[in-house]
Amino acid sequence: MDIIKIIHQKRDGGELTSEQIKWVIESYSTDKIPDYQMAALGMAIFLNGMSNLETIYLTEHMLDSGISLQWQQGNPVVDKHSTGGIGDKISIILAPLLASCDFRVPMISGRGLGPTGGTLDKLESVSGFRTDLTEKELQDIVHTVGCVITGTTPQIAPADRKIYALRDVTGIVASVPLITASILSKKLAENLDALVLDVKCGSGSFMQSIDDARHLARSLCSVGKHFGLQTTALITDMNQPLGKMIGNKVEVDESIQVLKGSGPYDVRELTLNLGTELLVNCRNDTTHDEAREQLIGCLDSGKAYDCFVNMVHAQGGRLPLPKIKNNFHELVSSTSGRISQTDCRRFGEAIIALGGGRKQLHEKIDHTVGIEILVRLGDYVEKNQPWCRILYKTKETLHRAKEILTNTLVIDTEESATRHVSLVTERYTSFEEP
Ligand code: URA
Repeated sequence: MDIIKIIHQKRDGGELTSEQIKWVIESYSTDKIPDYQMAALGMAIFLNGMSNLETIYLTEHMLDSGISLQWQQGNPVVDKHSTGGIGDKISIILAPLLASCDFRVPMISGRGLGPTGGTLDKLESVSGFRTDLTEKELQDIVHTVGCVITGTTPQIAPADRKIYALRDVTGIVASVPLITASILSKKLAENLDALVLDVKCGSGSFMQSIDDARHLARSLCSVGKHFGLQTTALITDMNQPLGKMIGNKVEVDESIQVLKGSGPYDVRELTLNLGTELLVNCRNDTTHDEAREQLIGCLDSGKAYDCFVNMVHAQGGRLPLPKIKNNFHELVSSTSGRISQTDCRRFGEAIIALGGGRKQLHEKIDHTVGIEILVRLGDYVEKNQPWCRILYKTKETLHRAKEILTNTLVIDTEESATRHVSLVTERYTSFEEP
């Protein structure tokens, strides 16, 4: 086969065969196709899309680049994945919460992609915490603790490991077939009984319009169904950061608050919504209200937090997190009025500018910097009222972050009705997918 012909075919709007996609994935995974040709093909896919069948082939061959985990009889094996957002720390809470409800959760997560933060980067702010577990370590920890959060490995979903990194630095993340295959190749390798997906929609996510988010949710459920995986996708709001804290260590701190039964309302609520889907899907005799009550009980009793502590220790991490005294700087509102919009993506860009995210693949990140958001959409602010607090290391990075965050809020000076923001807007499932 010839990679140049395959690039031409996709560039000109053609459909690729299963054999062609298999060959590309195998060749790229074994370094027989260089990054620049894979990036050209990725861009052709980004621009022209893929049919449902091509997306299934892509997922299948990315899955086949590695092994699938095998489980002994026992508690249901479940997982959750997000398409990526700002301040999105739900995985850190939901994995131990589900384990405390007697599920097994072998969560394979990612690093920051574009301006969105990555669960692995956040957890690495816990000193000693390992995200490079072998397949054996992963399975042992799931067996003893009930949950694990780790990265892809040379054995599990290795094709995604390579393609994910390439997409991030070549501007081809926000593509429905590429996101579908990336997420599902990892999740299918986990060999799950049920999966719930958080499809983010809005200015802080890859899917900026509801039509694009619907397209992605349907694609994920339809490909999940093809592989026999019970998949539910919730479309959720990402027009403002989730919770109050954005960064790495500060997001783990906020997750711990939720695991101890407090924390911001939206973070707790979204965690409960996603968890409820899995409980209801896996336990036929459990109603929605019963599932929610059980999850609330595990948060409020400290059972979920205990699972988190066990998981952190099993993965080499040391708690409690050290107290860090950051410099901070507050941004104040330039006018009085009601906050009607945020350009949410800018929070992620500001974190990168502060050193808390990556511009280049192998950059080290500063886990201690962050942003605390002091207002929500619909709030009324007075002129000169502080609306965010920047935790920074150097004057230069602060200056750059301030530049990015200028004009992030849109403030209506005319008195207008408070806009109601729904956290979860739509729900799709593989069982209802035609
Ligand atoms: N999460 C993933 O694992 N892959 C994507 O492409 C986007 C979000």
